[in-house]
Amino acid sequence: MTALSNRIKSIPESATLAMAAKAREMKEKGIEVISLSLGEPDFKTPEHIQEGAIKAIRSEDYFAYPPVNGYLDLRKAISEKFQRDNGLSYGADQIVVSNGAKQSIANVFMAILNPGDEVIVLTPYWVSYSAMILLAEGEPVFVSGTIENDFKATAEQIKEAITDKTKAIIFSSPCNPTGSVFNREELGAIAEVLRDRKDIIVISDEIYELINFGAKHESIGTLDGMLERTVTVNGFSKGFAMTGWRVGYIGAPLWIAKAANKMQGQYTSGNCSIAQRAALTALQGSMEPTQHMAKAYEKRRALVYNLLKEIPGFEVNMPQGAFYFFPNVKYYLGKSFGETKIDTVNDLCLFLLEDAQVSLVTGEAFGDPECLRLSYAASEEELKKAIAQMTVSLAKLS
Ligand code: PMP
Ligand code: GLU
Repeated sequence: MTALSNRIKSIPESATLAMAAKAREMKEKGIEVISLSLGEPDFKTPEHIQEGAIKAIRSEDYFAYPPVNGYLDLRKAISEKFQRDNGLSYGADQIVVSNGAKQSIANVFMAILNPGDEVIVLTPYWVSYSAMILLAEGEPVFVSGTIENDFKATAEQIKEAITDKTKAIIFSSPCNPTGSVFNREELGAIAEVLRDRKDIIVISDEIYELINFGAKHESIGTLDGMLERTVTVNGFSKGFAMTGWRVGYIGAPLWIAKAANKMQGQYTSGNCSIAQRAALTALQGSMEPTQHMAKAYEKRRALVYNLLKEIPGFEVNMPQGAFYFFPNVKYYLGKSFGETKIDTVNDLCLFLLEDAQVSLVTGEAFGDPECLRLSYAASEEELKKAIAQMTVSLAKLS
């Protein structure tokens, strides 16, 4: 008998973080693992942002509890960013700054879901969405895209999934784990399906906005009638290489922003003061380092695409944004090597971790058990080496 709550027992451990921990453990034992599991930039936070934090520490003005929803000047800068870059009019009082976009999303689910409320999750989806919905006692309803349609669920599929209990819909674009990007037309079709259900809240996770190799980034909140029920999620982790600083935010209808603020006020209070000052520096400073990083990801994307395509049984799409590949690897299911049998992609990822010493994440964690996720936020040298080692290991399976 365990004394743990049903709530915590209802969710799995975060697969991305678990795989990263496993790779770290192996590295600590002296085993050389190439980690392509965790989605995090391999770049350092740009220097001017570091300086912003140092200046804040030295000024001694930022040692006290910050406001729960974030400093007003930061919220004003975010409000201006939404207007300038995305055409979204969220006032500073509609912004809530949190401990990463992860907490931003968790706040929203806790704030809007009642037991049994359904949330449509466009699948493949980022690992934590389903767990967060379950923790808030909601029910995820998965609507899946496949590699044939670039992993993008269609408006028609969404329409079929809507019920009286549908409370919200969530998706990321650019998408983690597939790198797919919804264009304006596709977003328009989704908005059209939701037109008669103004009670359905749209949670648009745009954290990879700045890592987009194709057309201009589009926000669903700019479509007719959508802003008043769209929560736009964004943050600093990816575009500014600030994963460890933990700053994310939402722009939301006022009633949701107030509820997220209330939630955060009871759970964690305002986000780290110094990290917020660094975030403000990021918004006010040069975008050149961000553009430089995006260019590097684009170059690696081409490299990885060409290498993955050559691996027998890897079906690969060309991602338009973020820094992931999400190949379909069902070809390997049922194969074995000695005692090792590959029944699931999870088995395949464990095999590749042990045999090729490359850490990846099983697609099951993202709602597609035939795929695996490879993060290419790593150096070209590491990527080449990792894929060469994977190729050798995979060739052992028959
Ligand atoms: N949304 C998506 C799609 C992500 O990939 C991540 C992972 N970092 C997050 C949200 C959470 O980001 P943060 O580091 O700001 O908590
Ligand atoms: N979002 C990143 C990923 O998907 C970081 C890990 C996490 O927060 O789950 O790998």
